[in-house]
Amino acid sequence: MPFERISIPKAGAKVKPLDVKCTSTSCGDNLHCFKATKKLIAQGNDGQCRDCGTEIVDWERIRKRDLSDSDYTFQMLNHELIRNVFCLSELSERTIRYGLRKGRHELRETARKVLLSKVGGENNYREGYQTPKTGNNIIHYAQHATASCCRKCMEYWHGIPMGTKLEEADLNYCIELIMTYIEERLKDRNLLDERQKLPRIKKSG
Ligand SMILES: [Zn+2]
Ligand SMILES: [Zn+2]
Repeated sequence: MPFERISIPKAGAKVKPLDVKCTSTSCGDNLHCFKATKKLIAQGNDGQCRDCGTEIVDWERIRKRDLSDSDYTFQMLNHELIRNVFCLSELSERTIRYGLRKGRHELRETARKVLLSKVGGENNYREGYQTPKTGNNIIHYAQHATASCCRKCMEYWHGIPMGTKLEEADLNYCIELIMTYIEERLKDRNLLDERQKLPRIKKSG
C-alpha cells in the first residue's frame, strides 16, 4: 500500500483540514504548494512551490496518469501541504463508518456520481470550491487528498485540462486514486465489497 512507503513529514497528524488553505505551505517541513501563481506562469516556472521555489515533482511522470505508478503520485501529492493533511489527519468515526457501511462497490459508484456531477462538466458550479472540507463523506476527503476536488487541482496535478468534459479514462483514473486512498485509510477496519450494517454512533458530549 502506497502510504506506508511515504517517508515524509506528517503535517496531517497535527493539522486539522479546516485549518489549512489550498495555498498553505510549511516549506521547512518539505510541505509545499505547487499551484502556480500568475508570476510563476509568466516566468515559465509553474510547477515550483509558490513560496520557496522548490522543484521536487516530476510533473511529466505524474501527468502520464499511470495507475501502476500511483505510489509515486501519492508520494508527491503528500509533499503538498493540503494533500498531506487530508491523507494523514485523523478521520472521525462517523467518516470511517460512512465508508464501511457503503463498502467498495457502492463507494466506487458514489465516487463516480460525485465526480460526474461536481467536477465532470466543462463548467462546474462553484468551481474550485465545490468539494467540502468538512462533514463525514470520506469521498470528499479522498478528493482533496488526490487532487480530484476541482478542475484547477486536476489540471495542475494530473494534467487534465480545465474547461472540458471529464473523459471516461480520466474519470476512471481519479476513481482509482480515490479508492486507493479509501483502502489505505480503512485498512485496519473491516471494509467489505458489499454494504454492511453498523450501529449508529451515540453522541457523547
Ligand atoms: Zn515550498
Ligand atoms: Zn481542488
